[in-house]
Amino acid sequence: MSSVLLDTKPEKPTDEKIRLPGLSRAQIKQHLVDIGVEPKKLNMRTSQLFQWIYNFGVTDFADMTNVAKPLKAKLAEHFTLSRPEIVEKQVSVDGTRKYLTRMAPGIEVESVFIPDVSRTGALCVSSQVGCTLTCKFCHTGTQKLVRNLTAQEIVLQVMMARDDLGEWPTTQENRKLSNIVFMGMGEPLYNTDNVTDAIDTMADDTGMAIGRRRVTVSTSGVVPEIVPLGKRTSAMLAISLHAANDELREQIMPINRKYPLKDLMDACRNYPGLSNAKRITFEYVMLKGVNDSPKHAMELIRLLKGIPAKVNLIPFNPWPGSDYECSDWETIEAFGDLINKAGYAAPIRTPRGRDILAACGQLKSESEKMRASEVRKREKLDLAKEQNSL
Ligand code: SAH
Ligand code: SF4
Repeated sequence: MSSVLLDTKPEKPTDEKIRLPGLSRAQIKQHLVDIGVEPKKLNMRTSQLFQWIYNFGVTDFADMTNVAKPLKAKLAEHFTLSRPEIVEKQVSVDGTRKYLTRMAPGIEVESVFIPDVSRTGALCVSSQVGCTLTCKFCHTGTQKLVRNLTAQEIVLQVMMARDDLGEWPTTQENRKLSNIVFMGMGEPLYNTDNVTDAIDTMADDTGMAIGRRRVTVSTSGVVPEIVPLGKRTSAMLAISLHAANDELREQIMPINRKYPLKDLMDACRNYPGLSNAKRITFEYVMLKGVNDSPKHAMELIRLLKGIPAKVNLIPFNPWPGSDYECSDWETIEAFGDLINKAGYAAPIRTPRGRDILAACGQLKSESEKMRASEVRKREKLDLAKEQNSL
């Protein structure tokens, strides 16, 4: 693993210009109205800018060759094409890259690029800083929600990974960053509006052109948002299932009390566009002695009946202070075999980037870790003081 603490200086306070990268077409258009671009030329100018930003990834207005000089000067006066600061970039021995980006003061966001064995690769993006749900096996769940990310902050994660991978312009063939998964920090369906707006911007054909079928949104099961998500985005759906009976699921995923399995499965059945070519992925983290027996596998098979589905078996990734252990390899394989025999694909997800805590469920932003260690330091100090005064 290599870790680089990047020496990027925080942006100067003078740089209080409006940042355009990450904004939607409508937002860019409005900003052009605000600086007085004439109505006749508005749509044309918006399209030009959108293309330069999202197709070419330019970071300097001077590079916009089809924009006249006076307008370029005006744009540069009001707007910036800069990216937020990357606080840290880590590269795992397996090629996984983890970025920690400071979107705003106190808003630190992790994104993980996972190169695939073939030519494709996925960027795992965050939708919130922290999470309000407290799934027992998840590191992010131990971090309080700081706030929802804006659509711009979500799109910026993709742009910055492309910067790092050198994948502008968009048209270049054999892109490594081909897929997006909302499997980073946070519950995307507690931030549906920003997530759907971000998908619209990423998917725009004249920009980054990421096909909607190449975007997967993973949810712990926010039932009322599932069908609307499909209608609005046509994205692929993944459900963090992890248990196939209510009693166990409630124990490890408190959201199941609010939205039990029956409701969750009904929403899945109604997900728009479901077919054998568009199946729902059910994620199932393998927890030793908790949810990994043949009986659990049979329950899962019964639950999935009638739903075009595939199952992703995720070996549990440990994190400091976690209560669980990963199931043994043979147990995972035996579980997978049963699911397979019932007609569902059930690949075992190879853990990626474990050495840099970039694997599923291990994300938790540095800011929080630092705050936690600060707290512990202070607690120790207080304790020492108390003991001294006794
Ligand atoms: N909040 C959303 C998106 C996060 S996705 C959701 O829960 O679906 C992250 C995926 O990794 C989820 O399937 C999550 O359940 C799983 N996960 C969480 N902690 C994990 C851990 N320690 N090991 C392996 N997978 C984990
Ligand atoms: Fe939040 Fe998903 Fe982690 Fe649960 S698994 S705590 S919903 S990020």
